[in-house]
Amino acid sequence: MKVDVAIIGGGPAGLSFARALSGCGLAVAVVEQQGHDALADPAFDGREIALTHASRRIMEELGLWERLPAEEISPLRDAKVMDGPSLFAMKISASASGHDQLGFLVPNHLIRKAAFESLMAAGEATLLAGVRLVSLERRAEDVLLTLSDGTTIETRLLVAADSRYSETRRMLGIGAASRDFGRTMMVCRVEHELPHDHVAWEWFGYGQTLAMLPLNGNRASAVLTLPEHEMKATMALDDEAFGQAITARYDGRLGRMRVISTRHSYPLVGVYAHHFAGTRAALIGDAAVGMHPVTAHGFNFGLQSAERLSSRMRKAIEGGRDFAANALLADYERSHRLATFPLYQGTNVIASLYTDDSGPARLLRKAALHVADRLSPVKRAIAAHLTQSVA
Ligand SMILES: Cc1cc2nc3c(=O)[nH]c(=O)nc-3n(C[C@H](O)[C@H](O)[C@H](O)COP(=O)(O)OP(=O)(O)OC[C@H]3O[C@@H](n4cnc5c(N)ncnc54)[C@H](O)[C@@H]3O)c2cc1C
Repeated sequence: MKVDVAIIGGGPAGLSFARALSGCGLAVAVVEQQGHDALADPAFDGREIALTHASRRIMEELGLWERLPAEEISPLRDAKVMDGPSLFAMKISASASGHDQLGFLVPNHLIRKAAFESLMAAGEATLLAGVRLVSLERRAEDVLLTLSDGTTIETRLLVAADSRYSETRRMLGIGAASRDFGRTMMVCRVEHELPHDHVAWEWFGYGQTLAMLPLNGNRASAVLTLPEHEMKATMALDDEAFGQAITARYDGRLGRMRVISTRHSYPLVGVYAHHFAGTRAALIGDAAVGMHPVTAHGFNFGLQSAERLSSRMRKAIEGGRDFAANALLADYERSHRLATFPLYQGTNVIASLYTDDSGPARLLRKAALHVADRLSPVKRAIAAHLTQSVA
């Protein structure tokens, strides 16, 4: 098979990127290891994705937003950050940036479903589901791919969108800085007695980190971060015992909590690729930047990478130039690195500081939160970043 663009990975970033190329006149193939049914109707995976206003705009343009069930889009009005047992909270308010909400919460599996449906409705890309990339060979004019079922693809551009653990990145000889935080994050939906007023919490406790993401109704996504051995024991509890445990961990601040979904756990590893581009190859989504979820940037960056690369390719095609030229790919890499690197580093610093329970770190944590709370430019900057409509 001969195509212009082969995308490895039909996750939310790969599918969004493929959809962003619709109407360009390019032959696009998406290679995904999961079967067709898992893509068409993805299972709930516990993740509730906090989306910025800029991401909403991109999703609207790609025809994803209109496919999300309205009742599954929960407004994220304000956020507060707490440290240890103290009742003090740094508040980040949408009104600081002139908006009525900071962003939106949408379940990850419904984003995947919307991306799949939008791509299929556009009817241009070829989907190769249930197969993996086995090997690649870079040649003068193209890249030759061999898939697990023996299919070969000759492509003018190869795009890796196969997660932060990307094998394609490795096959391309591109390394990555990776940071294992030694923690596991558990996510599930809970129902609770008291209203959350659509305010998200990030609560850096001692020995645990908790977040509460407000969903429509008296429901929330409970996000619990623990060392792996403690997480194993917590995951082993039955739903009744887990409900009691999580109520206690949240200090009863939302009243009694009851689990209403399956529970899912994820090891916390941050990854930043050394390069986002090479000859006739580019990295997008988590394959380029795999964020620690604490600042909720991962998929927002994934969408931005899809937009940055596809818009450059469109311009080149309109101007009759090579859409996979080295200069174009290098320009994509530069712009995406500029937009993501400071936030990747900053997120890692926050994640490390607030999981360090030593005496000096506790003092620093408390001081940092109080200082940031008093500096309204800091809070305004965070609110403005979340609410900006242009990435
Ligand atoms: C608990 C948690 C909470 C999060 N919360 C947020 C949030 O609030 N906001 C936010 O913006 N982001 C958040 N994220 C991050 C977000 O989920 C990711 O950034 C996003 O899923 C990345 O999409 P992707 O398509 O790049 O990669 P993935 O979702 O990892 O998809 C990769 C795809 O590639 C396929 N694949 C892998 N290897 C191969 C292969 N060899 N051949 C073929 N196919 C392959 C996989 O099957 C998969 O379908 C969160 C993440 C976690 C874990």
